[in-house]
Amino acid sequence: MPTYIVLLGPPGAGKGTQAKIISEKLGLPHISSGDIFRENLKNQTELGKLARGYIDRGELVPDDVTIGMIRERLSRPDCKPGALLDGFPRTTTQAEALEEMLREFNGRVSAVPYIKVPEKVLIERLTGRWTCRAEGHIFHETFNPPAKPGVCDFDGSDLYQREDDKAETVVHRIRVYMEQTAPLIDYYREHGTLLELDGTLPIDQVTDDLLEGLEGRIAA
Ligand code: ADP
Ligand code: ADP
Repeated sequence: MPTYIVLLGPPGAGKGTQAKIISEKLGLPHISSGDIFRENLKNQTELGKLARGYIDRGELVPDDVTIGMIRERLSRPDCKPGALLDGFPRTTTQAEALEEMLREFNGRVSAVPYIKVPEKVLIERLTGRWTCRAEGHIFHETFNPPAKPGVCDFDGSDLYQREDDKAETVVHRIRVYMEQTAPLIDYYREHGTLLELDGTLPIDQVTDDLLEGLEGRIAA
């Protein structure tokens, strides 16, 4: 049976950072809805054109578009063992659609690590985030700086600051999270899959807690 893990938490909690670290260890592909949207923006696809306005404003792309995109991605052969989902689902409608599509793939959500970080920390994390142009590797100018400023440690490509990481968009994105995504905390708690983690700890400590928490859940 395939293993699906959903990383939950506000923008800036460290979902992408942790996903990049644990994806290989778990043998699951890292599926980031934000990365897929940004790839489509870069390549100016129809999906990218449709999503651009929402992303620039810090709003959610409509559910039907996002669900279709994830369904297509999860149907690909590399997702046969399952997937590590980062940034999806973000609404109750998306969570229900995910459940339904996983039933088709003979799987279900095994664990939902919820990375908790208070709002004031999120703002400094996002406004100081630097993202790698080629693969989306994630750095922070103070908390996790690259060896050489502006250059990705992993693939040497240039680092940029996301347009939607400027302060005013960040504040709006956090509000959108509170209204539309935070209800998923209770949703998954009721399903018995929620795993709460302190996201204010150093990156490697969060990784240790995450892997330890998953051990029991994935085996179960
Ligand atoms: P998300 O995917 O949840 O939006 P990211 O993984 O992109 O979050 O992390 C947001 C920013 O915070 C990045 O600049 C990253 O380097 C930094 N960061 C991630 N985890 C931590 C941590 N545990 N402590 C300090 N900074 C962190
Ligand atoms: P962060 O890393 O800060 O959490 P993401 O990279 O996950 O941000 O998402 C960036 C933007 O892409 C979101 O603000 C939203 O516009 C869009 N997006 C990503 N995932 C979803 C989703 N599941 N549903 C709707 N919109 C999404």
